[in-house]
Amino acid sequence: MIYKDDPELTRRFLEDTSNIRTGHTPGVYFPETADDIAAILRENSGSGKRFVIAGNGTGTTGGRIPFGDTVIAMEKLDRIGEPRPLGSRHAVMTAEGGALLEDVQKKAGNSGWLYPPDPTEKLCFIGSTIANNSSGARTYKYGPTRSHIERVKVVLASGDILDIPRGKYPAGENGMFRLDLPLAGRLEFSIPDYHLPRTSKHNAGYYTAGGMDLIDLFIGSEGTLGIVTEADLKLVPAPENIISCLVYFPTPDDLFGFVEKAKKNSFGVSPGAIEFFDPNALAFIRKVYPEIPADTAGAIYIEQETTKEKEDEALEQWFNLMESSNALTEDSRVALDAEEQRAMKELRHELPVQVNEWLAAQKESKISTDMAVPDESFAALYSYYRETCEKHGFHYIIFGHIGNAHVHLNILPSNHDEFLTAKKLYVDFVDKAVELGGTLSAEHGIGKLKAGYLVRMLGEKGMQELARIKKVFDPELLLNIGNMIPEQYYHT
Ligand SMILES: Cc1cc2nc3c(=O)[nH]c(=O)nc-3n(C[C@H](O)[C@H](O)[C@H](O)COP(=O)(O)OP(=O)(O)OC[C@H]3O[C@@H](n4cnc5c(N)ncnc54)[C@H](O)[C@@H]3O)c2cc1C
Repeated sequence: MIYKDDPELTRRFLEDTSNIRTGHTPGVYFPETADDIAAILRENSGSGKRFVIAGNGTGTTGGRIPFGDTVIAMEKLDRIGEPRPLGSRHAVMTAEGGALLEDVQKKAGNSGWLYPPDPTEKLCFIGSTIANNSSGARTYKYGPTRSHIERVKVVLASGDILDIPRGKYPAGENGMFRLDLPLAGRLEFSIPDYHLPRTSKHNAGYYTAGGMDLIDLFIGSEGTLGIVTEADLKLVPAPENIISCLVYFPTPDDLFGFVEKAKKNSFGVSPGAIEFFDPNALAFIRKVYPEIPADTAGAIYIEQETTKEKEDEALEQWFNLMESSNALTEDSRVALDAEEQRAMKELRHELPVQVNEWLAAQKESKISTDMAVPDESFAALYSYYRETCEKHGFHYIIFGHIGNAHVHLNILPSNHDEFLTAKKLYVDFVDKAVELGGTLSAEHGIGKLKAGYLVRMLGEKGMQELARIKKVFDPELLLNIGNMIPEQYYHT
């Protein structure tokens, strides 16, 4: 197995997209199989050496950044199997932890299947998307990654390799799991004892639910419990046809009214994705697309799966809904074929491009939120974001997955003082989201960047619960230390 310790060759593993720039590592392993990974961990047991798992570095929370840890790079475990149909409604495809999501989606698509999880960034590895329970626009219809994972194979810190098909390891009636492993011996533990928020997306801390499946403990555990080396992914039939619309509104009430009605399937619509752009976000895109109306309260992007036969009917339903919500129909756009949809996607992708250019010119980092709240609290969180930003005179944009009451606020500081003020305010945003029954992270996870905030949502007892579960699987504290759980909780 390849091991590299030349700083020139390992430098790329010292960063992700979090802007943390202080990582350092003695070296990087490039295993090719689960057995290779198990051997690394077995051979180093008792050495005090720590390991961090590296996906493709698109994470936003510093999860893969080493601080003296040896890196285990997943990139050579990149094999993808063929879809195996299970009747006409489902198929299963096996992929290794280092397979690119983009390649998985292409391979599924080539045989008429869809792998629904669609984080905006496609250059991430399947193992990471499972470790982070990643989600995207289509999560509105299909749920997060968790809903599409039928089996995972994980390597534990002990070097044990554990195959977990869904259904094989349910928690017992008393909430206990019991596992007998060749190296770790008997592991006996109860499910995490805290309540999850009532949001439709959540990715902050270990999953818990009465009668839960062991597989769900590993999904979203951010590499703290084990290394995902392989998974069976559940595929659904690819839709025959998709309608996409970008719809502008004159007032916030019209816009939010439209979203509410779309979620209630008014006029017969059946959205697969409902995404939001506030006026400030649109102003960035307008630099390249001057046709975007200036006098608008924001835009909603919707997608609906349909068939060629039903396309006209679906369009009429959406048009009725737009009219009933006073949408600016003259300015709004519909994309019906692949070429139009690609153009609309490019327009949406212009937002991060323009924002990054702006930030590079200011030489500052953005402060961005990833909180979601229960549907009924969305308006309150949105107003709070806006009022706080307006009060401080920040440049900011709000955009994202409004269908899941999950939008990202990005504060774009013009100077370092603004950056520091925004960083302090981040704590208030967390507290507000939690007060509204929400979650600290709906999709990006906690990593190292947000580990210090998780206690505000879970409380001290909840943090101790995380540490308890972590120590069951990793008593020597070898894997992804510093991610999700601040170290102090291992010693209380
Ligand atoms: C522009 C942009 C848009 C994004 N949009 C979204 C979005 O819409 N939705 C969303 O959910 N995320 C989004 N992300 C975040 C990111 O793409 C996801 O979190 C993704 O899952 C990270 O994959 P990666 O391979 O790059 O992982 P990395 O950044 O390399 O690692 C992420 C974490 O996963 C752990 N890990 C990696 N591989 C494994 C493994 N095999 N087993 C166990 N743990 C592992 C790492 O240790 C680390 O903690 C976005 C990122 C960017 C840059």
